[in-house]
Amino acid sequence: MTNSQFFEHIKSNIKAILQKALNSEELSSDEALELLKVKGKEFFALQYVADQICFEKMQNIVTFVINRNINFTNICYQHCKFCSFSLPATHTNAFLLTIEQISEKVIEAKKIGCTEVCIQGGINPDLKFEFYLDILKIVKKIDPNIHIHAFSPQELFYMSKLYENSIEDTLKELKKAGLDSIPGTAAEILVDDIRKIICPNKVSTLQWINIITTAHNLGIPTTSTIMYGHIESLNDRVTHLDVLREIQKETKGFTELVPLPFVKENPMLSKLEDFPLNPTYGMDDLKLFCVSRIFLNDYIDNIQCSWVKLGPKFAQVSLNFGVNDFSGTLMEENISRSAGAEFGQYLPPEEIINIVKAAGKKPTQRDTLYNILKYY
Ligand code: SF4
Repeated sequence: MTNSQFFEHIKSNIKAILQKALNSEELSSDEALELLKVKGKEFFALQYVADQICFEKMQNIVTFVINRNINFTNICYQHCKFCSFSLPATHTNAFLLTIEQISEKVIEAKKIGCTEVCIQGGINPDLKFEFYLDILKIVKKIDPNIHIHAFSPQELFYMSKLYENSIEDTLKELKKAGLDSIPGTAAEILVDDIRKIICPNKVSTLQWINIITTAHNLGIPTTSTIMYGHIESLNDRVTHLDVLREIQKETKGFTELVPLPFVKENPMLSKLEDFPLNPTYGMDDLKLFCVSRIFLNDYIDNIQCSWVKLGPKFAQVSLNFGVNDFSGTLMEENISRSAGAEFGQYLPPEEIINIVKAAGKKPTQRDTLYNILKYY
């Protein structure tokens, strides 16, 4: 089927936007917003274009990483209103792992062939900056080759206070101790009016941008994320993507975008009567994947699905909607599970390979920075 046959009977404004995308022209925010609203035939045309653009860039390759999550503490007093992971130190389920316990987890990760450990925790007031450095040093002592993907921008902000130093100097110390890359979490939605409601104690949009660009300028790559499907509007989603695109134009430091649907109505968030929750359904998720692919085309190469949040079946579907990365094996994913995500803590590589093959794609193991390690 040719493009023109595929575009028969669809609205002329959507056709013009999609044609622009196929010609590799940069879309405006208004155009992205129009695409987030499509339904019916226009939805399938959007899918076709996102899939086509993804195919041109990645062929049929779908990557994944063998990694392990280590959440070293769930004690946190930031009170983000969507978070079901954090607990006060007095709670019976509160925990803070010792360096020895973290070492055991890293040794386990090494045994199952992990190339990456992803380390994050709550903002625990009992921690000292040295503790974070000790985590990095012990991981590198166990295996100098394992990639340390660690510490959210919120944690980095907190560490800079503990260290009584700038973000730049804090990052330099962490890099010296072994930090390789940073998760682009704590982004949620990069619109301050929304942040003030859902995470009032978190870094502002500008502070998040500053931390991320400082990392990029020091040669520390980061991922990027968007948490959607809570109280934000479609326009907020596009604003967020635009912030990421502008950063990437300047620094080229993002390795990927991970769209993260908000999983569960946290009781605190649903109490905000003036701001009703706006949860997404399947087609909303798929449209955001497509628009992310098209809007970020030529800037952020990799769009990742979160099988933890979407479930492996729906994550497989997303591979036809502009997504080219299946995330990682994860092993012990606590944050989404605490929020109510029903899917397991670990997907073995063989299962990811089967899921990707069944989608008609080529499963390919990568490292954190998207270097290819093995084709299957
Ligand atoms: S999202 Fe992170 S910073 Fe916010 S309360 Fe939860 S653990 Fe703390």
